Amino acid sequence: MFELMMNGVGDAFSRIHWGTSFLLRRDGFVLAVDCPDSYRRALLENGFPKEDGEPIDVGDIDAMILTHLHGDHVNGLEMVACFKRFAFGAPLTLYTSPEAEADLWERRLQASLGVLYDGTDWVPQRREDFLDVTVMEWGEPIQIGPFTITTRPTVHHLKATAMRITDGESTLGYSCDTAFDPELIDWLSDADLILHETSMGPAHTPIDKLAGLDASIRDKMLIGHYPDAFAGTEIGGLTLAIQGQTYDVGGQNH
Ligand SMILES: [Zn+2]
Repeated sequence: MFELMMNGVGDAFSRIHWGTSFLLRRDGFVLAVDCPDSYRRALLENGFPKEDGEPIDVGDIDAMILTHLHGDHVNGLEMVACFKRFAFGAPLTLYTSPEAEADLWERRLQASLGVLYDGTDWVPQRREDFLDVTVMEWGEPIQIGPFTITTRPTVHHLKATAMRITDGESTLGYSCDTAFDPELIDWLSDADLILHETSMGPAHTPIDKLAGLDASIRDKMLIGHYPDAFAGTEIGGLTLAIQGQTYDVGGQNH
């Protein structure tokens, strides 16, 4: 059993939720998935407690997975990486797909982080000054702390990273951003808990498609990445993930 802490549950345009991201914790190891806008503020507001009772912050994150380069998943990374470097003197440990790795620095972060003024000179910066990046090859299990993770590219504008994440006892399935894809749901179907997205547009999953799934799947499914209009509503036997809530993967509280 391990913990799933929902740091945000909103879609890309939400005004009432933080963008969808979450933390997993097992034996004190904290694995973060995605880094939307206002990341540290979301962590502070949610207040997921550490052993000492203080809220989890960026310095407590052992590793982060970046699922793809859409802003609602990556916009917070620039300042989180800066904070990690300048407050802790260490790069952020980051895992991502081959496609996101290829573009993350040169096409996204280098424009703003590529040069620093040190009081005298403008000093060129390298990716590794901010980020310690490991590529997750599609379909090849990778060990991150106590978790073994297998990835699968989704049907989306960009290849996003669906995952099966296990601690050897329990498994979380995560759809990430995806068009409705029965093969993906089948790939996730034997997980103890499935976190699935819903949103508008052809590259996302309509809620009625999820409501039409077998009860055996629906009953262990949490819905994230949802539009504001869904908040607080009851939709076809589905359970909306609640921002700030912690779920036990392999436990009974979902
Ligand atoms: Zn996306």
